[in-house]
Amino acid sequence: MTEAATTSNGSNGAHPTEKRDAVVIGAGVAGLYRLYRLREQGLNVTAIDAASGVGGTWYWNRYPGARFDSESYIYQYLFSEELYTGWSWSEKFPGQPEIERWLNYVADRLDLRRDIQFGTTVKSAHFNEATQRWLVTTDKGRGIDTQFLVACCGMLSAPYVSFPGQEAFKGQPFHTARWPEQPIDFAGKRVAVIGNGATGIQVVQSIAGEVGHLKVFVRTPQYVIPMKNPKYGAAEAAAYKAKFAHLTARLPHTFTGFEYDFEQAWADLTPPQRRAVLEDCWNDGSLKLWLSSFAEMFFDEEVNAEISEFVRQKMRERLKDPKLCDLLIPSDYGFGTHRVPLEQNYLEAFHRSNVEIVSVKGNPIDCVTETGIRTADGTVHDVDIIVLATGFDAGTGALTRIDIRGRGGRSLKDDWSRDIRTTMGLQIHGYPNLFTTAVPLAPSAALCNMTTCLQQQVEWIDACIAYMRRKSLNVVEPTKETEDGWVAHHDETANATLIAKTSSWYLGSNIPGKPRRLLSYCGGVGVYREKCDEVAANDYRGFAMQ
Ligand code: NAP
Repeated sequence: MTEAATTSNGSNGAHPTEKRDAVVIGAGVAGLYRLYRLREQGLNVTAIDAASGVGGTWYWNRYPGARFDSESYIYQYLFSEELYTGWSWSEKFPGQPEIERWLNYVADRLDLRRDIQFGTTVKSAHFNEATQRWLVTTDKGRGIDTQFLVACCGMLSAPYVSFPGQEAFKGQPFHTARWPEQPIDFAGKRVAVIGNGATGIQVVQSIAGEVGHLKVFVRTPQYVIPMKNPKYGAAEAAAYKAKFAHLTARLPHTFTGFEYDFEQAWADLTPPQRRAVLEDCWNDGSLKLWLSSFAEMFFDEEVNAEISEFVRQKMRERLKDPKLCDLLIPSDYGFGTHRVPLEQNYLEAFHRSNVEIVSVKGNPIDCVTETGIRTADGTVHDVDIIVLATGFDAGTGALTRIDIRGRGGRSLKDDWSRDIRTTMGLQIHGYPNLFTTAVPLAPSAALCNMTTCLQQQVEWIDACIAYMRRKSLNVVEPTKETEDGWVAHHDETANATLIAKTSSWYLGSNIPGKPRRLLSYCGGVGVYREKCDEVAANDYRGFAMQ
């Protein structure tokens, strides 16, 4: 493998070009592990991240109330018992500061920082067909010539903001995914929160008691589950650490990479038994109701209708006021077909006299003005702070914001503006030696415990590169037939679900003009793993190597 070197390279103007075996984009959950594994393999690797520290999602999303909704002891690296047991969580669903500290612990323990360029944004990556290598350029004016390019950019990392007039606003605007490190003083302020996805919900419940007046702009109501978040002391930490072997054996094979799984069939149970399962899951205060009650919820409209009504009733009991029920309880899509958020007294926040809902379903936001937010009916809502909890260009945005060019100069941005395709979310035909994690057409696009899926993808890529090195092969790229086959299988699986009939970021429908496709592979984490393992066991069948 190549040594680090600095040369002069004519292909990118006068910028000096460094040589690497691999460049990893991103230093979040996937990027850190990616860097570690490739370095362990003996590759000369650099990771690049726009942030000034590690963490990815957990670096950027430092908005008030940001926290896990996967159990802390499963949102974990499971490749090293020492790493796992060396960290103790303080609660079941910890907040962002603790998660960021954990990822810093990981980076320190694995001595990763020396190979990460922080505060650096990748601008372009072009595949050179003559050298069969990538040329990566950054905003620091440097070029890196690398054999492998591994994108660990995160599924939800390209913030989506789209209101005309935003730059005119004279108050303080913040997107939740670009939240400043310094605390924001909300005391006594007039605040608008736009959006009530998992993020907006966490913000609203956290700041409602602090602000002067809060206007929550709601377009699509959400089904929510109340979170139970017990503290973890030494005894609890010891108990979950003792489950390490069990977790490593179980998580990779469940449907969603969580500890729990779908274990009972709706048709096998009587109505009281079904109700008992739903109540049991509900009382867990986790995502269990969504990810381990009844899988039929995703396929069978009648089952979905019953479970949806179960959740609506729970929400009605808390909201009480019929007007609030109308505005905050979903009626036009089924439970589980959008991402389900956990919340802590979110619904109760709307009982406060300083919290108001602005329904923008039939009266959309027109623009941002100097003083606030104008809706289509001409009302201007004057505020001091606008919190944009408006989500992400999920799955594709992080990569299409980089000028990525594959064979023949083809542009990933152009390709994906027509049709979002990948091969198992691991590679893309036409882009040799580009590996991906957390991109569309894999479970890591959404329907899973992210760390379970990201580790599996990192390990598959690692094994693929090791295989190539053993065989003295330099280039890998899925064939068009392989990609066509995977896309067809993905679509068949996706279109059998009720999710495919809805509109949310799961299908890219939050981004105007984005081609519609269910981003996440719905065949299950365990099945996906088996399919990936099968490819590897058959000498990377369908992936052309030379
Ligand atoms: P999101 O789910 O896409 O929600 C964005 C919100 O902004 C929606 O309510 C959307 O309304 C609203 N919105 C967007 N444009 C709008 C417009 N022009 N006018 C009015 N409303 C508008 O984004 P997110 O809440 O940031 O969450 C994204 C994902 O991140 C989650 O689904 C989850 O996977 C992850 N997340 C996880 C956690 C955690 O607990 N671990 C926390 C936060 C986020 P519509 O629905 O009508 O489009």
